[in-house]
Amino acid sequence: MKAAVIREYGKIAMEEVEKPVLLDNNVLIRVKYASICGSDQHIFKGEFHPRTKLPLIPGHEFAGVIEEVGRNVKNLTPGEKVTVDPIIWCGKCAACKVGHYPACTSLKLIGIDLDGGFAEYVSAPSHMVFKVPAHISDEYAALVEILSIGFHASARAGLEKHDDILIVGSGKVGNSILHAAKTITDGRIILADILDERLAIASSAFPDITTINITRTDPVAFIKELTNGKGVDIAFEAVGHEVPIAGKFNPVRTCINAIKGGGKVCVLGLSDHPSEILMKELIWKEARIIASRVSHGEFSKAIDALDKGTLDPDKMITGVLNLEDAQNGFELLEKEPGKNLKILLKV
Ligand SMILES: [Zn+2]
Ligand SMILES: [Zn+2]
Repeated sequence: MKAAVIREYGKIAMEEVEKPVLLDNNVLIRVKYASICGSDQHIFKGEFHPRTKLPLIPGHEFAGVIEEVGRNVKNLTPGEKVTVDPIIWCGKCAACKVGHYPACTSLKLIGIDLDGGFAEYVSAPSHMVFKVPAHISDEYAALVEILSIGFHASARAGLEKHDDILIVGSGKVGNSILHAAKTITDGRIILADILDERLAIASSAFPDITTINITRTDPVAFIKELTNGKGVDIAFEAVGHEVPIAGKFNPVRTCINAIKGGGKVCVLGLSDHPSEILMKELIWKEARIIASRVSHGEFSKAIDALDKGTLDPDKMITGVLNLEDAQNGFELLEKEPGKNLKILLKV
């Protein structure tokens, strides 16, 4: 089969590789679309080294059609449209024993620790395979993974019907939180970023949200004014791989200062650098910091919302390329992060 393979960091190219062997509890999926994630960009640049082992077929966000099912698989049939939750947990560690799978100490992801969906075929454990109703497009099906991240963060933070929220970071994760949150709350949504183009992508999907470019507007002062001094109920930090600069904007501290007394800050950005916060600002508010990693059962929520039409991620898709052009996709995301949000790869 054909697959896009990373053999050295910074390069991805098509190769002829062995088709995956179908295990008894697995299904073989013919991939239709895969999506380039922020994590894929880090993998591509070698920033997940030594976790990632080369050669690697990346891709943990993908959807396709079942080609073949393993001998023990009873609930899935060839021809069905599916997407895959790429998380493989051990089921034995302390976190797994209490059902806290995203915190599994030996968590593995298809497309990061194992070969993934930038290929014609992927083999996946049947219990991680989710059926997608036929009327949902293959493109949207490939976005279920990233959308489930937004639903998981909303669930972790306990987002409720009328909550006002701040999302710091209008990248892939910030937009997935935005899309998920829009299906839950009718409160005010404020989105902050440093790139006007990114904020414009989010506004084009939801003209009623408030966007702030933090290079021009102080988000804390702005939010205080907007909420009559109260602050937001929940602030999500979705900046990603941030390198803090002394005296410059600090996303987590901004979130703490933007919430109401008793409010919550939900952190998702996977930076390798410490984020400086002033504890008393948290203590004065008796606030909570909640962490959210990957997803846990939210695939069904995302598929359900797509099915009902309450979720429409059309504006998140800023480009569609053929799998053969994966290198170009990665380069576009690096060169023009404002214009490019989700690039889909057609397999
Ligand atoms: Zn991802
Ligand atoms: Zn575990």
